[in-house]
Amino acid sequence: MCAIVGIYGNENAARLASLALFSMQHRGQEATGISSSCDGKIYTKKDSGLVSEVFTEDALTYLKGNMAIGHNRYSTAGGESIFDAQPVSAKYKLGEMSIVHNGNLINKNEVRQELIEEGAIFQTEMDTENLIHLIAKSSHERLRDRIKEGLNKTIGAYCFIIQSRSKQFVIRDRYGIRPLSLGKLKTGGYIVASETCAFDLVDAEFIRDVKPGEMLIFADGYDEPESIQLFEPEYRPCAFEYVYFARPDSVINGKNVYRTRENMGRALAKNDKKDPVKVDMVVPVPDSGVPAALGYAAESGIPFEYGIIRNHYVGRTFIEPTQEMRNMKVKMKLSPMRSLIDGKSLLVIDDSIVRGTTSKRIVKMLKEAGAKEVHFRVASPEIKFPCYYGIDTPNQEELISSRMTKDEICEYIEADTLEYLSIEDLKESIGNDANYALESFDGDYFVTK
Ligand code: AMP
Repeated sequence: MCAIVGIYGNENAARLASLALFSMQHRGQEATGISSSCDGKIYTKKDSGLVSEVFTEDALTYLKGNMAIGHNRYSTAGGESIFDAQPVSAKYKLGEMSIVHNGNLINKNEVRQELIEEGAIFQTEMDTENLIHLIAKSSHERLRDRIKEGLNKTIGAYCFIIQSRSKQFVIRDRYGIRPLSLGKLKTGGYIVASETCAFDLVDAEFIRDVKPGEMLIFADGYDEPESIQLFEPEYRPCAFEYVYFARPDSVINGKNVYRTRENMGRALAKNDKKDPVKVDMVVPVPDSGVPAALGYAAESGIPFEYGIIRNHYVGRTFIEPTQEMRNMKVKMKLSPMRSLIDGKSLLVIDDSIVRGTTSKRIVKMLKEAGAKEVHFRVASPEIKFPCYYGIDTPNQEELISSRMTKDEICEYIEADTLEYLSIEDLKESIGNDANYALESFDGDYFVTK
């Protein structure tokens, strides 16, 4: 998961980077960091916590310069210690560099082991550090060639921004699995960010997505970034960004995420028309189920109601380590609207079922609050396989759909009926115009180079 940002050619680079990270806080809440570059020196501030906590006025004043890169961390690789916060910086033959990464490298252990055998010393548990070592030990003269050589040994889903003392290098893997977009700042210079929702806050105009396999180079004296196609593109954008992860106002591959979620809800409603259930209202699991529930309500003509209220001061339930804590957190986060649902039949929509914790608790909570029937609808297909490309899903044994059939899950969560979106409907809802990465649903682990 994670969010990355690069700002180039703006005197308020670090400040703009922190705003962009703030708008991408949903992509990671564990730690955050920014490296700026000024007069041949790199300045870094990183810490665990939220963007608004870490980037105080003092921190932003310290981060001088007209270029900066930043990161929000959601641990998919590495541990939870502060050593695993990004950017990661290092001094090497050509000077200093700093790097941020979104994604997950699938050959990280082999590469790391090889590097260790050769004498490398690692400071973190992160796969990101591999690339630093590969760049440092390359014999090429220019940084761009060193990066290219390093990437030739790097397999996985990645978006990197690498900052030297005077340049920025932006790279997206050949499959374009994780999103990355380029924009122009109205106050001067450029922004590259994981999601376009960052552009609104910093007043940037969207130019285009960074292409799969492309390297952009920002350097002094050039009006526009230089573009080099490093790898033959085989575009496979991640479908889960549309299902759950991206913010609804972001645009990925030309598609507004909110609209795609609404389409997913419409598709669920169309499917239910074949065998309709009689319900009084459509209720979203807030916030992730809202756009799909709106789509369902519009398509079916059944009224949309906020039957569940969310307390916004509780963090995401998913990251809690034990099942007991996860159960408690769902309860703290979501409460039923008793007066609205008492004696009623509900059609409840969430974006996904992973372990089954949230859905089970919700059905129980709604029934205890008087709901007569709870029909559960999921705006994604069954998640049967872990994702190794940067979305944090647990081991296969923990994925309820890898162990149980739909009917068994329905019984387990004690819903009256349960339906998922089909893979075909998911593709259709996003637009069916790209070969989406669907490995969590179909187990097609396509990344091989
Ligand atoms: P679970 O309770 O384990 O079935 O997880 C399902 C809930 O977690 C849903 O409400 C989703 O909105 C949310 N969710 C799905 N995928 C993720 C993820 N990768 N990280 C955090 N939350 C997620």
